[in-house]
Amino acid sequence: MHFRLLTWLASALLLIIFAAITALVWRDHEHELQVQLNQDAGRLQTAFEVAVGNLEQQMLALASLLAADPEVQRLFDQGRAAILAEGGGAGGARAARVRAALLARVEPQWHYMQTRFGVRQLQFHLGPGVLSFLRVHAPERYGDRMDGLRHIIEDTLRDRQPRAGFETGRVQSGVRGVVPVEAIDTDGTTRLIGSLEAGTAFNTQLGLLDRQLGAGFAVLLKPEHVESSVWREYREGMRQKNGCDCYLEASSRLEFKDLLGHIPFPEFRDRPLSWLLPYQGSILHITRIPLRDYLGVLSAKRPAVGSVLIWRDVGNLVHRHRQAQMTLAGGALLGYCIAQLLLLWLLRNTQRRWRFQVEQKAIALNESEARFQLLLMGLGEGVYGVNLKGHATFINPAALRMLGLSGENVLGRDQHLLFHHHHADGRDYLHADCPIALTLADGRPRHEEEEWFWRRDGSGFPVALTVTPVLKNGVRVGAVVVFQDISERQAHAQQLRLLATTDSLTGAHNRRHFLQQLEQELARHQRYGEAAALLMLDLDHFKLVNDEFGHAAGDAVLKSFTAGARQILRRSDHLGRLGGEEFAILLPDTDGEGACELAERLRQIINDTQVETATGMVHYSVSIGVALFARGDSTADAVLARADHALYRAKHSGRNRVEMEITEKQPL
Ligand code: GH3
Ligand code: MG
Ligand code: MG
Repeated sequence: MHFRLLTWLASALLLIIFAAITALVWRDHEHELQVQLNQDAGRLQTAFEVAVGNLEQQMLALASLLAADPEVQRLFDQGRAAILAEGGGAGGARAARVRAALLARVEPQWHYMQTRFGVRQLQFHLGPGVLSFLRVHAPERYGDRMDGLRHIIEDTLRDRQPRAGFETGRVQSGVRGVVPVEAIDTDGTTRLIGSLEAGTAFNTQLGLLDRQLGAGFAVLLKPEHVESSVWREYREGMRQKNGCDCYLEASSRLEFKDLLGHIPFPEFRDRPLSWLLPYQGSILHITRIPLRDYLGVLSAKRPAVGSVLIWRDVGNLVHRHRQAQMTLAGGALLGYCIAQLLLLWLLRNTQRRWRFQVEQKAIALNESEARFQLLLMGLGEGVYGVNLKGHATFINPAALRMLGLSGENVLGRDQHLLFHHHHADGRDYLHADCPIALTLADGRPRHEEEEWFWRRDGSGFPVALTVTPVLKNGVRVGAVVVFQDISERQAHAQQLRLLATTDSLTGAHNRRHFLQQLEQELARHQRYGEAAALLMLDLDHFKLVNDEFGHAAGDAVLKSFTAGARQILRRSDHLGRLGGEEFAILLPDTDGEGACELAERLRQIINDTQVETATGMVHYSVSIGVALFARGDSTADAVLARADHALYRAKHSGRNRVEMEITEKQPL
């Protein structure tokens, strides 16, 4: 599941990276195209501006040429005088005559200018302000004032400087050059008569540019500009208003009218604008730049009067560019597909390898777990684990069996409270003293031989336990306790101890053990001076008992004797079989009188007792020698010898008697 998510994420990331790179390169391509288109448009715009500048110079040159003609100057000056004389405006008959003469004078040049230079307007004006004296291109219209309308003329008349620019007049708009017309008086002074204007439309120039640059040019004028300047009848003559809601002033191509109908015109705010237009199976790059008239050029604050449209067929360029982009996109897609496949292969491979490793680990873990479980199950020793709180985390069957508990009783519970709560002698086992708790606290392994565990039924048993801390990544997390029920071992040891110290037939102490006790008692006697007595006992004529009743009966008699002696002995007294039918009794804290009394009592009991055996009732007797511990006794042999001596005397005095050995150093 995680792997699938990872695959999705990695694929998405790859897709994003490829998409981002492709988008960046795509944008770069777009930008490159745009830069190229803009550069082309800039070049065309410059060419247009240069062409307009040339036109202006041409118009100025033509106007200057005519204005320099003395005859023209003379006639114009006469005209000026006639108008002044005849009340201004259109003037009267004299003015009309002069006007006709002037027209006749300039007509040949006018025709030449029209055909050769595409001049469309030729006009004489008088100042101050602007009064039309003669429109060579429209000779029927004259005498009107154009103050506030024809600023080029106004400015030229004011400061007698030639000026040029684009401007719209009463009849036409176009590129115009205006020069002052001056007369030199007889006194040599120069006097301003008026001004002469030559104007042309863009058409010819646009056609020229089109042919040279392979781009279409059109000049569009804003309706408000045209309608506020041009007389209605001349406006009608201008090209019709069209789709962009403007007058088409000039165009380098005839089909432009058709194009105009198709151009979706983006909003134009007197700022250069360009866009691509799919047109008749090709693509046009259209640039629209503001067109400023004479006043607009002087003051940038004035709105443009129209615009210049430059269009170029960039189908091939765009097509090449699109092809490059498609190649890029295709390459990117192919690259992405390959990278995606590689990624999938890589992820799949990694996943397979991981899965294999995990499976191997799981198998190894299972095997190890199985071995561990087998070991735990098969162990005769009890094993359980505890966490840091001392709560059992696992326990093996042997432990449960020994404790008489089930897994549910133990797991998750405090093992100390459950089965380790008391010492063997019944004292409370404080948690703080528990070796398991100590190992959990200090992390040191422990081994204890003298512990005590308690079963569910309340019975306890001795255990030997080993506590080993459990670490996980170097941090202590709990401990494992291994324990054995050592009750059998203890019983066995007890038995061995018994065998080593006891005579197997009678249960009395054996000779070696008895002599050890005798030595100990002698040492105590020497240190504290306490009284003690030793009795040596020998059954009388025991050989005969064996002979008469058999050896088994003899054994029975030996046992009976031991039982009889035990009856009258204190817990602190010791009875030992020194060999055959010879016994000894050690009586601590006993003086001679007490010892003799006890010896006599024993002798009497034996004498009064008959032992029932398989071969008959046996009557027997015992002879006893009594000796007391003496101050000078350095070894047990001395006491033994004295008791033996007393016994010897008892035997020789007729048996079935008690004799006491009295020494010089004695009695105490
Ligand atoms: P006395 O009165 O002088 O002591 O005579 P006695 O026969 O008791 O002494 P003796 O030393 O001659 O004989 C001891 C006998 O005790 C010899 C032996 O067969 C017998 N005896 C020694 N040990 C055992 C034993 O463990 N079981 C039996 N049934 N007889 C034993
Ligand atoms: Mg004997
Ligand atoms: Mg004997």
